[in-house]
Amino acid sequence: QTTAELDAMVTVCRACPRLVDWRESVATTGRRASFAAQPYWGRPAAGFGPAGAPVLVVGLAPAANGANRTGRMFTGDRSGDWIYAALHRGGFATQASSEHAGDGLELQGIRIVSAVRCAPPQNKPTTAEKATCAPWLHRELELAEPTLRSILALGSIGWDATLRTVREMGWVVPRPKPKFGHGATAELTTPHGRTVRLVGSYHVSQQNTFTGKLTEAMLDEVIASL
Ligand code: SF4
Repeated sequence: QTTAELDAMVTVCRACPRLVDWRESVATTGRRASFAAQPYWGRPAAGFGPAGAPVLVVGLAPAANGANRTGRMFTGDRSGDWIYAALHRGGFATQASSEHAGDGLELQGIRIVSAVRCAPPQNKPTTAEKATCAPWLHRELELAEPTLRSILALGSIGWDATLRTVREMGWVVPRPKPKFGHGATAELTTPHGRTVRLVGSYHVSQQNTFTGKLTEAMLDEVIASL
């Protein structure tokens, strides 16, 4: 299986009834007024970025009116304004903004996925939904492992999902379990003996960026370390 095949398969997943209802109801009757005339994706968001990238970003989930509308991770929402501007400053993105899926933005050396691939109500997936979506991250990591250098976990959900998944895959994870924090790091060892560095960052959600909990300088610093 290739990364392109994985992307195609994930976009038709319907394994979580509550999330299928939510993503599709937002996409039909629940559109934000300012986007009412736009088509909505209303499906799981596939990974964005080249296969074989040495850096994998693991976010939380698509935003209901962001990637659930545009079909591309962090595209068309405030979180995307932050992450793509920072990735552009760090040399990973060809442009600093990301409005819609056909805007010409390309990533270089980095691929973005989420721990949960469908938009959840209040951005809060249940424990069962996180577990149901975990095999997609598992497969993503299997495909990425041969060339992977670093994983950037956005928020504690991305951090925990990554650690849980790699442990299941037989990677060696330090004990006690590494704690999430902005700038936290952990060295992971794959079954092939490769070392992959896990780096934590506060999520680029508005509640962090509007309040100043996450600044551009803080984000630039973790991206420069990848
Ligand atoms: Fe499938 Fe994941 Fe979406 Fe659940 S959250 S329906 S497992 S893609």
